[in-house]
Amino acid sequence: MKTAIFSDFDGTISLKDVGYSLFHFFSDGKNDALLPAWKSGEMSTRDCLLAEAEMVNATPEEIYAFIDKIGIDMAFPKLLTICQEKSIPLKILSDGLDVYIKYLLEKEGLGGLDFLANHAELVNNTIEISFQHTNKECKSCGICKGEILREFRENHDEPYQIVFIGDGYSDVCAAKEADILFAKKDLKEYCTNNDIKFIPYDNFNEIITELKQRDII
Ligand SMILES: [Mg+2]
Ligand SMILES: [Zn+2]
Repeated sequence: MKTAIFSDFDGTISLKDVGYSLFHFFSDGKNDALLPAWKSGEMSTRDCLLAEAEMVNATPEEIYAFIDKIGIDMAFPKLLTICQEKSIPLKILSDGLDVYIKYLLEKEGLGGLDFLANHAELVNNTIEISFQHTNKECKSCGICKGEILREFRENHDEPYQIVFIGDGYSDVCAAKEADILFAKKDLKEYCTNNDIKFIPYDNFNEIITELKQRDII
């Protein structure tokens, strides 16, 4: 069977959750008050992101200087190279913001990589977020990764084995759709509590080893 790999960005490819760290820093920690409602599902990702963005008062230079300090897991480009050699599609699915994903990928020489994320512009000393993706059903996510995985299956006649890699609540819908799930941190806890099968991991080196052992890559 063919394989397709989808990965979260924040805290999965990037070493820190860029969105959270950014809003935390530029809101002086005030964004933390929103998180319990978001984590419990009472507040949607869209409402949460808009409320967090409203707390920011910073110039683009200040924002980019902050983003610039965050690194990525250097084994991720290794996985990407393997996938390219084997013609395995690998796509980043993020419910964070395109502005920092684009910046960090370009900085690592991965500017051509395909990704999906919410749109953000740095204007008037704040972050303006717009949601250009329409979810079919999900009311919780900005971009519902679960729906994206279902659409991927529907758009391909031959069956695919879908690998998903994630670390947080924005990955919950995808976790239910994936055939092989790698989970850490909040996602791992969620899957444990909700009887969703997963492979624990800490970094992309471990993912590469595991996928090789299973003859997937
Ligand atoms: Mg994440
Ligand atoms: Zn969803």
